[in-house]
Amino acid sequence: MVRKQTKCRFCNDENLEIDYKNVDLLKQFISDTGKILPRRVTKVCLKHQRKLSKEIKRAREMALIPFVVDIYK
Ligand SMILES: [Zn+2]
Repeated sequence: MVRKQTKCRFCNDENLEIDYKNVDLLKQFISDTGKILPRRVTKVCLKHQRKLSKEIKRAREMALIPFVVDIYK
C-alpha cells in the first residue's frame, strides 16, 4: 500500500511554527532517548526536517529538552 504524500505536516499547516520555544512540538520529533527521529519516521519534508533539527539543537542548548533521557530511572 502506497499512500502518496506530497506535503509534510508543516507544509500543510502554516500556523504550525517550528520554534525552539515550542517544546511540546519538538518533543514529538525526538525519540524516548532524546534523539532526533529520522524523516522516514516523521514524514517531514527535507526543508522542515532541517529546520526541526536546528530548533531541537537550539532547544537543547537552552536546556529546554534533554540531550539524553535517563532511561535508568
Ligand atoms: Zn514541509
